[in-house]
Amino acid sequence: MKDVHDIFVIGGGPAGYTAAIYAARANLSPYVAEGFGAGGQLMLTTDVENFPGFPDGVQGPELMQHMRAQAERFGATLESADVSRVDLTSRPFRVWVDDEEHLANTVIISTGASARWLDLPSETRLRGFGVSTCATCDGFFFRDKPMVVVGGGDSAMEEALFLARMASSVTIVHRREEFRASSIMIGRVMENPKIHVRWNAVVEEVVGEEKVEAIRVRDTVTGALEDIPASAMFVAIGHDPNTGLFAGQIALDESGYIETDGTRTSVDGVFACGDVQDTIYKQAITAAASGCMAAMDAERWLEAGLASAHTTGAEPTALAPSTEG
Ligand code: NAP
Repeated sequence: MKDVHDIFVIGGGPAGYTAAIYAARANLSPYVAEGFGAGGQLMLTTDVENFPGFPDGVQGPELMQHMRAQAERFGATLESADVSRVDLTSRPFRVWVDDEEHLANTVIISTGASARWLDLPSETRLRGFGVSTCATCDGFFFRDKPMVVVGGGDSAMEEALFLARMASSVTIVHRREEFRASSIMIGRVMENPKIHVRWNAVVEEVVGEEKVEAIRVRDTVTGALEDIPASAMFVAIGHDPNTGLFAGQIALDESGYIETDGTRTSVDGVFACGDVQDTIYKQAITAAASGCMAAMDAERWLEAGLASAHTTGAEPTALAPSTEG
């Protein structure tokens, strides 16, 4: 008979690690499948200046290493592998890490969100050859060259400011004539002499055969086409939640985010935290906070004996259907 984990955490970002820290300190020996992209989006960030406790800022990867080490210190088991499949229709729940099946009384989902692409054929073809969603990973390769950033939110501002440190110039291409970003970030961008804005423009094509040579944009007002010379294009147009694994088993909203009440999902005993269920705040600190909440909710749920009410040994028992989406 297989062991049943009390808490199985899927995803290793600020939410998953914080859930693991709290669950481990509650003696629940959480098992964490961190995924190959362990650390989440902060692994693609340099300076994090808004996470409390670091008056001089902290590097994203360093912050994640600290969270991971803290979870490990209290006894969480961390596996840098992806979950390939879940079965949340019976208890104990079943989670496959690669081909290995695990059983769990509760599952905490913290799979985060992934960067969106424009979905142009030329963008796909030149990905890794000047087209990227990560300025901090790839900007350095194009130093002293002109670069384009697509988007009008805080991510686009952050990418543009970062790239301006090394680019000869940065052009932000935005589809409207007003940014969505916060005033402080807009202020920094507008003050930066290296950053220019191409308002009311959408990318039609990334021009270049084997490397990026220009970004062809169409003016949304006049319809005119223009080639902006550039050696790299950074796409910063938001994120999609990583919920493909759970579709059909748990309620998702129309954008694919997990629907939650607090951290509870539509499946009793399954909790969600972090960006996978957050359509509003999407910050490292809010992800960490909701990870704490998910662990405490799971702990209380286990204490209330709700898992054992449905669990007979390790044989999964079917649950009444309660999912949609
Ligand atoms: P976002 O706020 O959703 O902004 C996405 C931007 O991309 C919008 O300006 C949007 O245009 C544009 N866009 C979306 N789809 C597009 C498409 N197909 N073609 C062209 N443009 C497209 O996403 P985000 O910037 O990633 O930020 C997400 C959250 O994280 C926000 O809450 C943000 O405040 C936060 N964040 C904070 C910081 C920070 O404080 N340092 C840094 C990064 C992110 P429209 O405006 O026309 O919709």
